Amino acid sequence: MNEERFKTKKEEIMAAIKESGFRMTRQRDLIVATVLERIEKEDIAPGMQEILTSVQELDPSIGMATIYRTVEVLSKLGFISLIDQGEGFNRVTLNQGDITIHAFCRNCGKSISIPNEKDLVDSIRELTLCDEFTLLPQAFKICGICDDCRSKGVSLEDLPPGRGRGMGRRCRRRRGYKED
Ligand SMILES: [Zn+2]
Repeated sequence: MNEERFKTKKEEIMAAIKESGFRMTRQRDLIVATVLERIEKEDIAPGMQEILTSVQELDPSIGMATIYRTVEVLSKLGFISLIDQGEGFNRVTLNQGDITIHAFCRNCGKSISIPNEKDLVDSIRELTLCDEFTLLPQAFKICGICDDCRSKGVSLEDLPPGRGRGMGRRCRRRRGYKED
């Protein structure tokens, strides 16, 4: 995202927050900017602790409760999704429209671009073409291990216990691999 688009997105979010009646303070403004920057400029789906660390570098007086409240408002307004990958915390991702697909590294949180994402979203939207089903706005999550982490030797076994890892074990068992 270039600087101009980043500024526009930030202004759009700030305006919606003000309109919702949520009181914007300098601290909350800083949190929104930090969340956006991490996601859009660094391609990271940050967890709450990461957001806190980044924000506290700019203002050490900001606490976790303020982060949670601000993130909750962003989520209620539909700008972000909180993604639970069984890591024991939620990662924050930005919604792109009514249907969003978030793919990211389960180890470092780096966003992974999906080839033909638009086609994929269109395929999901086609579900609404059948009369028996109305699709709700929602975010789909896909997790994996990014190139960087893989080249550093991170494997499925290194990930903290959680859904991602458990799924791997079940898959291996189903395929008849020996359990370690
Ligand atoms: Zn990674």
